[in-house]
Amino acid sequence: MSVSIQILKVEIEELKKKAAHQIKEIVFDNVETFRIKFLSRKGEIAILFEKLKEISVSEKPEAGKLLNELRNQITATFEKKLETLNQAKTESDNFVDVSLPGRTQKLGSLHPISQTMMEIEKIFYGMGFNSVVGPEIEDDFHNFTALNFPKNHPARDMQDTFFINEDILLRTHTTSVQIRAMELDKPPMRIIMPGRVYRNEAISSRSYCLFHQVDGVYIDKKVSMADLKGTLVSFAKQFYGSSIKYKIRPSYFPFTEPSLEMDITCFLCKGNGCKICKHSGWLEILGAGMIHPNVYKSVGINKNEWNGFAFGMGIERITLLRMGIDDIRMLYENDVRMLQQLA
Ligand SMILES: [Zn+2]
Repeated sequence: MSVSIQILKVEIEELKKKAAHQIKEIVFDNVETFRIKFLSRKGEIAILFEKLKEISVSEKPEAGKLLNELRNQITATFEKKLETLNQAKTESDNFVDVSLPGRTQKLGSLHPISQTMMEIEKIFYGMGFNSVVGPEIEDDFHNFTALNFPKNHPARDMQDTFFINEDILLRTHTTSVQIRAMELDKPPMRIIMPGRVYRNEAISSRSYCLFHQVDGVYIDKKVSMADLKGTLVSFAKQFYGSSIKYKIRPSYFPFTEPSLEMDITCFLCKGNGCKICKHSGWLEILGAGMIHPNVYKSVGINKNEWNGFAFGMGIERITLLRMGIDDIRMLYENDVRMLQQLA
C-alpha cells in the first residue's frame, strides 16, 4: 500500500494553512504549545515525514523536497514570530509612563525625645559647652559614693535603683558621667551629659522604668551662683521663650551645696493656671547647685583652686509638656500614628 504524492501534496498544503493560521495566534504564553504541535519530533511535520516511507521510489525525491520546504518555511515563520515577540517584550519592559504619578517615599522622623535632646544640646553648644557620654551600667562609686551619697545614707532612698550586684547597677542619673569626666579631664571644663537612666519605679502615666536626662557641669576659677543663674536663665529663655518668668527655690541634692530648683511660668496657660501646672501657674524644669566640696575630693580636684556648678533636667517631662501629652508611656509605645502626629 503506497501513498500517492498527490495526497501528500494536499496534506502539505493543509498543514501550511493550519500553521500559518495558528502562528498568528501565538503570544508569549503559548509559544511552546505551537512548537510541540508542529515542530517537535512527534509533531505534525514529523508525521508527514513518516509517510515518505510509503511513497514510491520514483516520487520520493520530489516528496522529500516538498516536505523539507514545508519544515523550513514553518520554522522560519515561527522564528520570526519569536523575534517579534521578544522585541515587543523588551520594549514594554523598558517603557516608562511619564504620566504616572510618582511614588512618594515615606520618611521616618526623629523621636520626640531625640528632638528635645538635640534642641537642649544646641542651646548649650551655643554657650560653649561640649557633649560627653558615659556608660549606662555603672558602679556604686560613680553613681553614688563620689557624688556624696555615703553608704546607708537615706539620700540613696531618693532613687530606686536596679542593682546588678552589690556594686554594679544601672545608672539612676547622668550625674554619674560628671565624675567620669572629672577623672579623665582636668578643669576648666564646660560639659553637658545627655543619656538614658533607669529607676525601679512602678510604671504609670507619670513614671517609667527608664527615661532621659541632661546633666551639665561648669568648673573654672571663681565660678559663682551668679554664673549658674545666668546660664540657667539664658537656657530657659532660649528654650521656652524670652517672655517666660522664672523663680529659683532652695532645694537639696547630695552633690551640690547650695542646691536649687528652677521654676518657670507655665508656657501652656501663660501663668494663669491650668491642669498641667496643677493650677499653680508654675512648672518645675530643673535642679542645680554649686558642686559640693566632697565631689571635688572624690575625684582629686583642689576645691580651693577650682569651683563650679552642676545642673540636670529630665527630658521626658519637658517633652510631654511641650507636646501636650499627659502619659509618659506614649513615648515608649512607638505607635507610628502617634509619632507621625508629633513629628
Ligand atoms: Zn499652666
